[in-house]
Amino acid sequence: MLEYKLLINGTWADSSTNDTFDDINPATLEKLATLQVASSDDVDRAVKSAWDAFTTWSETPPPKRAQVLFKAARILEERKEELATLLTQEMGKVISEARGDIQEAIDITLYAAGEGRRMFGETTTSELKNKFCMTILRPIGVIGMITPWNFPMAIPAWKVMPALVAGNTVVMKPASDTPLLTIKMVEVLMEAGLPPGVINLVFGPGGTVGSAIVHHPDIRAISFTGSLETGKWIMSECGKVMKRVSMELGGKNPIIVMDDADIDSAVDGVIWGAFGTTGQRCTAASRVIVHEKVKAAFTDKLLARTRTLKLGDGLLPETDVGPVINLSQLDKIEKYTRIGQDEGAVLLTGGNVVKPGLAGYFFEPTIFTDVDQDMRIAQEEIFGPVVALITVSGLEEAIEVANNTVYGLSSSIYTKDITSAFRAIEKIDAGITYINSSTIGAEVHLPFGGVKGTGNGFREAGTDAVKEFTEVKAVYFDYSGKLQKAQID
Ligand code: NAP
Repeated sequence: MLEYKLLINGTWADSSTNDTFDDINPATLEKLATLQVASSDDVDRAVKSAWDAFTTWSETPPPKRAQVLFKAARILEERKEELATLLTQEMGKVISEARGDIQEAIDITLYAAGEGRRMFGETTTSELKNKFCMTILRPIGVIGMITPWNFPMAIPAWKVMPALVAGNTVVMKPASDTPLLTIKMVEVLMEAGLPPGVINLVFGPGGTVGSAIVHHPDIRAISFTGSLETGKWIMSECGKVMKRVSMELGGKNPIIVMDDADIDSAVDGVIWGAFGTTGQRCTAASRVIVHEKVKAAFTDKLLARTRTLKLGDGLLPETDVGPVINLSQLDKIEKYTRIGQDEGAVLLTGGNVVKPGLAGYFFEPTIFTDVDQDMRIAQEEIFGPVVALITVSGLEEAIEVANNTVYGLSSSIYTKDITSAFRAIEKIDAGITYINSSTIGAEVHLPFGGVKGTGNGFREAGTDAVKEFTEVKAVYFDYSGKLQKAQID
């Protein structure tokens, strides 16, 4: 059995608490590892170590920092299968999706490494003679990162890789349900040559260890991915001390199925969007807004396909849907199916906790129909294999329903009509809109993030990847040899 200490200054160090917690396989309830819980003093040691490493790392030229990332990507590639297997054991998603999680980490590592030669500023003209103007990007300093469990390697990599290439150092707390894949990623970075102290890892509950990161006065910025509830609290705490904070929060993502849609393709998209990763994606399709003219045909096909889905251990090739992450998530999903029924929605299939020959946390793929857009199951993020079907009579109503949520991450429309597609692109309040595809499946060279309650304006990956982790400085170079005054001379 593995026991992990904290990673401080490149060394696995004992925490100053005597507390530990277990990392459990959600399909089998087998224990995978034990981890030491950090105290706020340990977080402080981690922050000091990150600042000690900052000067040398931030003064290393970005293309040289990128070399570490290029090498790390090669190692991740070599170990992809082994890491994907561990990821399925730790988080539960089916092995093909676990490979995708590792591949996304490889992709962002390579993409961020490329940024090492693309950290462009701007040059521009001056309103005065003999004066040169430009901008440069500077690292922020020590960044606190707090991540969720649903993408155990991809999400930490989306944050860490751009932050490192930009010259920052990091104190990171992975989700308590899935710390192993973050540890593996950081081990690979160290093997690739990352100097000690550039990344420090602390473990333990968000309420104590995460809070110590949020409140540490020497952490200059927080990069957080998780729930709206936690995100609001972190933002309010950071607001009190004007700490920079970037947020990637929840979603209640709609798929619109228009009357001219290719129904089979829409069914494929909903199955993948609603039940892929057992519905535990921030971009999961949890609402399907279906045109009344195709409702019957669509629902019949969706129901038939859903009933064929096989639940089980994600390591088995025949498994379509793995477990949910933990008992409290299982309870929450079950509670929402009761809420849905009490609100008057019709349960078409699913709604039960199951044990497909395993001890773990399994919930049947669940469909509600005749859902009213204001019901709680259509408004609140359930984060499980539950989808709500809402019927509409036209495009404008579909868009209105799509926008009737506090979130705004991903969205999709199935239609053959180009006008409907562009109207949806223009009018849906979301960071992502797919046409004739599901709500899930981001690519790392495009910006990722959402509007309204999903975030605070930042985007991860894409051309914005490095922006999250840099500050812009405007530089004025006056070579006139005299005092020139902008706006006055
Ligand atoms: P969560 O409960 O908010 O936890 C996320 C992280 O925050 C975990 O590491 C957690 O630690 C920590 N945390 C909890 N309370 C904290 C506090 N008071 N102070 C500091 N840190 C704290 O979310 P989750 O259940 O892990 O993840 C699911 C959520 O993430 C969903 O809402 C999903 O939509 C969202 N998500 C968003 C994106 C995106 O990019 N927009 C991507 C993936 C997931 P513990 O693990 O110890 O509790």
